[in-house]
Amino acid sequence: MSVYSQCCAPQARAPSHCWDLSDLVEIRVTQGQETEKFIMIRPLLCFHSSFFRKLLDPNGPFKENGAKIVDIQDDIKVFVAMQRWIHTGHINDVGVKTLPLALCKIWVFADKRGMPGLANDAIDALHEYTAYHGTIPTPTIPYILENTLPESKLYKFLHAQYSAIQSNKSLVNDIERALRPDVFDEATKSFLLMQLRTRIDFGGPATKEVEYKRPQEWVFEDRCRWHQHGPRGTFD
Ligand SMILES: [Zn+2]
Repeated sequence: MSVYSQCCAPQARAPSHCWDLSDLVEIRVTQGQETEKFIMIRPLLCFHSSFFRKLLDPNGPFKENGAKIVDIQDDIKVFVAMQRWIHTGHINDVGVKTLPLALCKIWVFADKRGMPGLANDAIDALHEYTAYHGTIPTPTIPYILENTLPESKLYKFLHAQYSAIQSNKSLVNDIERALRPDVFDEATKSFLLMQLRTRIDFGGPATKEVEYKRPQEWVFEDRCRWHQHGPRGTFD
């Protein structure tokens, strides 16, 4: 039995008719100078992604053009991770850790492509990493600040986990590093100052969005507060 909170609205499994090997589509993913081709089962991809459901609608331009190939710009490694998740239901196996920065990239992809189930699993994996290691890998902070909006679930998750896990001593260490040239970007410096300001205002590691949690309580957080629930990624 897992100690982690279970989702109150788990992602629906794809119905069996999504396994239609006669309805394939080729997705060409370009990242910089590199392009990779992925053969996907169209109904299965469309079940999990509102973006692809709209793009590959057989009653829309997709069929009218007679096309079986679409081009997108995206991160190729993240697309591979998405493909694995669609076919296995897992980002990675138990005991095999996906690096936190990769999980953040998967979340950003899932958010852009309308895949709440994948986004939620990425948040859960991030939570388990930080709960287990008791620390936040520094590269994830500038990436999240640069690629998400303040109202997004991942942005709120970052604030919550930093408040819960990073002690005042760790915050001071981070600020000392931020004072050195070229260590952190401006957004990360502002983030650290906001953390300091809220701790002074509230007298402890807290933000306006999350009440103070001792690090050992972080593991028991209700992760649904950072999930996207609803029908967006499933058949409406
Ligand atoms: Zn949930």
